[in-house]
Amino acid sequence: MAGESERKKVTRMRQKLPSSLERQLLVKNRHCCCICQNDGLGKEVEVHHIDGSNSNNIESNLAVLCLVHASQADAGLKKGKLGAGKKLKPDAVRQYKKIWERRIELDLQHRKKTQRGSNMGDRGELKRLKREALAATRRRPEDMAMFEQKVIEIDLLDDISRDNKVSAFHELGQEVSLNSDRGTVILTEHILWQLAAWDSPSIVTELIKIGTAIGLLRYIAEILWDIGVGGVEYGRGKDVIRMVANAILEVSEKAQMINAHDAVVICRKGLDSMLAAAHKDKRVHVVGLLEHAVTSLAESRL
Ligand SMILES: [Zn+2]
Repeated sequence: MAGESERKKVTRMRQKLPSSLERQLLVKNRHCCCICQNDGLGKEVEVHHIDGSNSNNIESNLAVLCLVHASQADAGLKKGKLGAGKKLKPDAVRQYKKIWERRIELDLQHRKKTQRGSNMGDRGELKRLKREALAATRRRPEDMAMFEQKVIEIDLLDDISRDNKVSAFHELGQEVSLNSDRGTVILTEHILWQLAAWDSPSIVTELIKIGTAIGLLRYIAEILWDIGVGGVEYGRGKDVIRMVANAILEVSEKAQMINAHDAVVICRKGLDSMLAAAHKDKRVHVVGLLEHAVTSLAESRL
C-alpha cells in the first residue's frame, strides 16, 4: 500500500527542518496560512511538508498552513475513506502556496515601484521600514513577527548601501535591547546571517579581494557590542545575553580567520564592556557566562 510506505518513509527519515529555513519561509509568507491568506493574520501557523515526507525539506515542498488547513492537508495525504472531514490534496496545497507567495512578491514589487519615484525613493523606504520596525518593538511580544518582517525588508532594499543598512540595524539594536528579548534575538540572528556565507573559504577570499570584509566585520562587532551592553543594562534574559556573547565570539572567530585584528579588538572590548556592565548593575546571573566568553576569546587568540 502506498499509504504504508509513505508512513515508513516518514518515520525512518524524520529530519528536523532547519530553523533558519523555517524562519525564512514564515517571513516569505508573512506568517500567514497560504490558504486563509490575509484573513488568517494572527492565526497560529506551522510549516507543512506537502508530500508528507518530513525529511523532504526543499522549499517547494514546504507550505505555511494554519492548524485547521494543516490537518486537512494531512488528511489529504491518506488514501481511501478516512473520516468525513474535509481533505486537501497535495496538488491543491502546492497551488495555494504558489499563488500566495506570488501575490506577496507582486505586492512588494508594487510598493517598491511606488515608493521609488525619485532617487530618494529607497532612502525614503529605508526610513519608513525603520520607523515601522521601531514601532513594532514597542508592541506586544507577539508582534515581533512584524519586526522581523521589517528587518528582512530592510535587507532586501536594492539601492541602499550595506553601510546604510547596517547603520539602520544599529539603531534598531539599541532600541530592541532596551525593551524586547525576542527582538534582541531576532536582530542578533539577522546580523549573524550576514556572515553565514563565510563558511566557504572561496567566498571569504572574494570578500577580502573586494575589500568589504574587514569593514563589515568591524561594523557588526560594534553593533553586537551595543546590543550586548544595552541588553545587560536593560535586563534582557540570561539566554539572550548568552546568545549575543556567542555571536560576538563567532564574529571574532571569522575576524581571526582573515587577520582582521581591529575587529577582534572590538569583539574583546564588547565582551569586556558587557562584563563591566554586569558587575556595575549587579546582574550576577550573567557574570559567569560573560567571564566564560571573555576567557574563550582570550584563549582562541593564543
Ligand atoms: Zn488556513
